[in-house]
Amino acid sequence: MLLKPFRKAFQFRKYRLLAPGPVPLHPKVQKELAKPMIHHRTPEFEACLASVLSKLKLCFKTSEPVMIHASTGSGAMESAIVNTLSPDDEVIAVVSGKFGERWAKIAGAYGVKAHILEVPWGEAVTVAQIDSALARHPRSKAVLCQACETSTATAHPIREIAALLRSRKEVLFMVDAITAIGAMPLPMDEWGIDVVVSGSQKAFMLPTGISFIALSKKAWGFHASAKCPRYYWDLKPEKAANEKQQSFFSSAVSHVRALNIALDSLSGPALERTIARTEKMAKLSREAVSEMGLQVYSKAPASAVTAILLPENISGEKLRDHIEKKYSVTLMGGQDQLKDKILRMGHLGFIEDNDLSAGIEAIGLALIEFGYANIDRKKLKTITANLSNQLKASRGKD
Ligand SMILES: *Cc1c(COP(=O)(O)O)cnc(C)c1O
Repeated sequence: MLLKPFRKAFQFRKYRLLAPGPVPLHPKVQKELAKPMIHHRTPEFEACLASVLSKLKLCFKTSEPVMIHASTGSGAMESAIVNTLSPDDEVIAVVSGKFGERWAKIAGAYGVKAHILEVPWGEAVTVAQIDSALARHPRSKAVLCQACETSTATAHPIREIAALLRSRKEVLFMVDAITAIGAMPLPMDEWGIDVVVSGSQKAFMLPTGISFIALSKKAWGFHASAKCPRYYWDLKPEKAANEKQQSFFSSAVSHVRALNIALDSLSGPALERTIARTEKMAKLSREAVSEMGLQVYSKAPASAVTAILLPENISGEKLRDHIEKKYSVTLMGGQDQLKDKILRMGHLGFIEDNDLSAGIEAIGLALIEFGYANIDRKKLKTITANLSNQLKASRGKD
């Protein structure tokens, strides 16, 4: 069923997408996406690709090449495995939610044995847990971890884990940074991360459809002897083509052109501003949640997304649907063990101040309509006004 604003000819309510991907697009990006198609083997496109590839390095903060796959983020996760590992290799996979499970399954599909380091949902893994997992499985060739486990809105201590692994020449640190790049600091080279993957429909502020991957020098060393079957995902010919300002296969022309625009807010000093803005939105959302008498679900909340733990007598699915139908705000619910229990609100993409406050207001109003007694409309007004003022104040310093 179409959302109300699209069904009726005129309804003056803005549709607000507050999911942790896909995300609202900046008008400049939308305009770029609407441009007529050109061929990817043209000087015009090659210049664009060259610009994108150099900005991507600034975004990932690496001197190594960052490559693009015409796939969703999961494709880049698969690429990370097949480009560095061999069947029968062992790895440690941090599993603290849906995306951790996915990476372990991808490894398994290639015959790579994943030792699952199970972390309770909503909690961050500790460096000590990684250290002892490595002691239990000394043949492990990699540690797989999310920077932000989007399903539980939890951030893992990537910098600290990287510091632990840096001196171990035989172990790669692979990070799913799909909701981390552009949302939290993740300087690949400085922290010493070996493989970083990301995807377009998160902080990159693009539609779903392309993904990114970068390998450290150490990871390129693994590539040479990695025996997992690969053809489409092989990064070697892609890297060689990129050196000639081309892609090995057809380029996702529209996405790449739009990326060239979006990267202006994700590279150089603008990157720090974008991250600071995301962190601010997350902090203010957490404060608003607690002012509403509710709890943030995660014990180590991420900046890309906030998970709100709902009162037991309120169905998360019903609340989510109600918010979408009545207030035209799309939020996400929980999956598996969190189904019906949480609401997840994304802080990624082109989110203006009033989008965030409208999102918080919609949650509050819906809760009141569902019989939640800890707030009333008056208190909700104070909460949203306070949030708006703080956003405005932080904006002044941009
Ligand atoms: C969105 C996401 C993915 C990838 O999902 P795709 O649907 O394949 O793009 C992987 N990991 C995390 C942490 C994500 O948030």
